[in-house]
Amino acid sequence: MKFETRAIHAGQKPDRATGATIVPVYQTSTFTQEAVGEHLGYEYSRCSNPTRTALEECLASLEGARFGVAYASGMAAIAGAMQLIDGGDYIVVADDLYGGTYRQFSKILPRFGVNFSFVDATDLDAVSSAVRPETKLIWIESPTNPMLRLVDIAGCAEIAKKAGARLVVDNTFATPFLQNPMELGATIIVHSTTKYIGGHSDVIGGVVIVEDEELDQTLRFTQNATGGVPGPWDAWLTLRGVKTLAVRMRQHQESAAALAEFLREHPKVSKVHYPGFADHPGHELAARQMRGFGGMITLELEGGESAAHEFCKSTEVFALAESLGGIESLIGYPWVMSHGAFPAEEKRSKGITEGTVRLSVGIEHADDLQGDLVQALEKISS
Ligand code: PLP
Repeated sequence: MKFETRAIHAGQKPDRATGATIVPVYQTSTFTQEAVGEHLGYEYSRCSNPTRTALEECLASLEGARFGVAYASGMAAIAGAMQLIDGGDYIVVADDLYGGTYRQFSKILPRFGVNFSFVDATDLDAVSSAVRPETKLIWIESPTNPMLRLVDIAGCAEIAKKAGARLVVDNTFATPFLQNPMELGATIIVHSTTKYIGGHSDVIGGVVIVEDEELDQTLRFTQNATGGVPGPWDAWLTLRGVKTLAVRMRQHQESAAALAEFLREHPKVSKVHYPGFADHPGHELAARQMRGFGGMITLELEGGESAAHEFCKSTEVFALAESLGGIESLIGYPWVMSHGAFPAEEKRSKGITEGTVRLSVGIEHADDLQGDLVQALEKISS
């Protein structure tokens, strides 16, 4: 079945007990057993819950994989995937990634004896050179947050395979509608479902997706032991959101492409990072490994920090808020918001400056979005 159909039906058969067409919110912590050990497959909602199972099956199907494990947040999903490794193991980590992921690598993992190095993953030679015999994971995002650089997933998968390591791809920005990393050789996919998958900025969640049954069992065992599960209501909201992922993504992309063109011509904008531009350094790679260029735009303002502050506080349709991927447009200031966890010199080395602004283009009418950017740019004192 095609993507749009799977988004609505995978894992979502009519309810066995009542025939309810839509998967119910199984708001229960526990499940009554007929006799000791005799139950319908569910015992306690930390272990599993039918609403969560439906979400997990749907998301796994959208990534073309067999198993999904849903978590309470994207960060909990990332922590779940990180718990696949042991003290003394080594991870090669892309240096251009979400600030919270960087924080988990740099502040938490070293306390457990895990070693890692950050590399520019857009350079496959750098990834290869960073690999050591004890490498267990290579961890990347593509497109990256916030600079929208492209990392060659198939190239990294090849390096991981040679090294006997697993490639983990954070596919949050692309979504399974635009990119399926497993088809390109990744072993593990993580998502913050808070973003495009949930799509309505009303629920936090995450998922880890794998094809290998043993990995799935290890993730589930660890999750049950550590407890970072989503509640049934959150799983239900995410499942409702994902049904419209395809139609939303088409509109996000269409409007983002138009706004990127407009911004590029604006005199107060010095640079627009958008993989859909033919002169974007990752354009060809994006065209090869993705099915579209996404709904995110990052720009540099001529006037630097003060211009960025004025711009961010002047938009009226774009809300100044953390996060991305919702139906409503958001504007963010990576220097102190999404990437506040990075030291200043690291931000600069990634190309993030005090004049960098990130836009998550929503599905409001594109004319209103452009009008809003026009009036906010006018407010910047030159
Ligand atoms: N991965 C990426 C690429 C993100 O942008 C984010 C959050 O912004 C996360 C992971 C973390 O997800 P959550 O906020 O759901 O914990």
